[in-house]
Amino acid sequence: MPILCFTMSPSAHVAVTSAELDEAVELLQGLVRIDTTNPPGNEGKAAEYLKACFENNGIDCDVIGEPRRENAVAKIRGEKERPRLLFLSHTDVVPTANVGTWEHPPFSGEIEGNWVYGRGACDDKFDAAAQAMALILLKRRNIQLNGTLLYASVSDEEVNGRGADWLTSKARSNVASEYVVGEGGGPPIEIGSKKAYKISTGEKGLVWLKLTAKGKAGHGAVPTLADNANIKMAKAFQNLSSLKTKITLLEDVASEIKMVVTGLFGEEQGSELIKSHLNARALDELLDRIASKNREVAEGLRSLTRMTISPNVIHGGTETNVIPGICEGKVDIRLIPGQDNNDAIRTVNECVKGLDMEVDAYQYSAVSISPSNTSFYYAIHSTLTELAPGCLTLPQISAGMSDSRFWRKLGSVVYGCVPLSPETKLADISPGVHGPNERIDIPSLKFGTEFLCNLTPRILS
Ligand SMILES: [Zn+2]
Repeated sequence: MPILCFTMSPSAHVAVTSAELDEAVELLQGLVRIDTTNPPGNEGKAAEYLKACFENNGIDCDVIGEPRRENAVAKIRGEKERPRLLFLSHTDVVPTANVGTWEHPPFSGEIEGNWVYGRGACDDKFDAAAQAMALILLKRRNIQLNGTLLYASVSDEEVNGRGADWLTSKARSNVASEYVVGEGGGPPIEIGSKKAYKISTGEKGLVWLKLTAKGKAGHGAVPTLADNANIKMAKAFQNLSSLKTKITLLEDVASEIKMVVTGLFGEEQGSELIKSHLNARALDELLDRIASKNREVAEGLRSLTRMTISPNVIHGGTETNVIPGICEGKVDIRLIPGQDNNDAIRTVNECVKGLDMEVDAYQYSAVSISPSNTSFYYAIHSTLTELAPGCLTLPQISAGMSDSRFWRKLGSVVYGCVPLSPETKLADISPGVHGPNERIDIPSLKFGTEFLCNLTPRILS
């Protein structure tokens, strides 16, 4: 980890004017109007669009990657090539069909009130637009940088991460960077009277397992002669879903819990609860108490304290009168730091013992994490508290996955944090992400852009 001491009072505060905000909104609308539904993606069109936006502002941008699935990579070189700070986002979006009714056509980019509507408005064309606008404004204001500011908006994040994989393996020298600001952050959560921004410092690992239950096929009229594979799978699913996996309290997660408990229960009761309950034995009881006040926060925290096992797919049987001799199941397992695919397979094998079942892993992604005690984290914290006085920041391990793992593999410190406006509520945003009526509010576009503009000189001056 490179050690740098970032300046704590950057020379000039960058504020986004209303004309520039209109420009950012138009940039975002233009991106939303390009259908990059993945599959098939066709993100090359979005990359070309971003290249035009950059080049109109005198910033170099390459469109590189697999045919039709190219990535946009832009660059502002400061006095020296290093260090580098990379803004990372993705241009692909999840499908719009079968998710519910859209009040605004999903690729319209329509504005109603303070909101821009459309698939990708939040995930993740908001980041792509705010980050692009930050480069444009830093260039326009001629802000002197010591190192290099990079921008990559990549394809295929929602499915396989092929864009990020391509860039970090085939164009590594173009995108390798000491510091990366990627997808994540979102609106602040309310903890008692305080607002706290989550900074994603890491992501749980993932193992997808296929289970095959073997029995003996037979006629439905004489069930005792056969051995029904579906029943075995049902038992396995029952065992897996009720399994209590080992609780581990990681340092970042423990500090997050402390902050939440103090916010929800006040200083006095909070510190009593922390003293008596912040240990593996009493943790679930503490999380239940948090859940009685904020279930979403409590269950998010619970998932960060253990391996989670979610058996989600069953394929078994063909006809009502045929007893199936084989049944297949699929299980989604998420790992915490210190665990790997072998731990997942061992845990599941233990759980299905005696059920005559094969267990195979078909997808694995290791835990990906950056330390939270860095100057880079502190620069993010300082920038946020300057823009939203009194807010807290919470280092957070995400239960989901993003492209940040590809850069962590290169040795970058990556944080997920493009923050939304302090007034924006999670409940106004989250139903649209991967659901219908996805949207982002215009004040967040301003806030996110200003955050990035003011963070950059702290890292690169
Ligand atoms: Zn995303």
